[in-house]
Amino acid sequence: MSNCLFCKIRDGQIPAKVVYRDEVCMAFEDINPQAPTHVLFIPLRHIATVNDITQEDRETVGHLYTAAAKLARERGHAERGYRLVMNCNEDAGQTVFHIHLHLVAGRPMKWPPG
Ligand code: AMP
Repeated sequence: MSNCLFCKIRDGQIPAKVVYRDEVCMAFEDINPQAPTHVLFIPLRHIATVNDITQEDRETVGHLYTAAAKLARERGHAERGYRLVMNCNEDAGQTVFHIHLHLVAGRPMKWPPG
């Protein structure tokens, strides 16, 4: 999508600290980290919100989770734990309309989220 921030990061038009990339997804450091580890995993294919995920995207979405869990393991977060979050639309606080899985880790977290 031409006016999507994360499509521009995917295409290298906007710089980001990319930490992972394969044929399905990529991951980069969040510009405003909320924890010692805060990485965003996006599908390379533009999907605006969770509402737009179709049956055909099931493998892609699962892929985001396995990639995030792998990075969490590599960064030593598996044992103490971490949070994976995908916000959908206004009430959840979604600000970038290209789905992204937040990997947040490295500090204790509260529940429920604010
Ligand atoms: P959400 O509120 O779930 O849509 O999350 C959007 C996330 O994108 C926020 O955590 C922002 O800090 C992050 N973000 C916005 N612009 C950039 C950017 N240029 N590079 C990396 N992360 C960004």
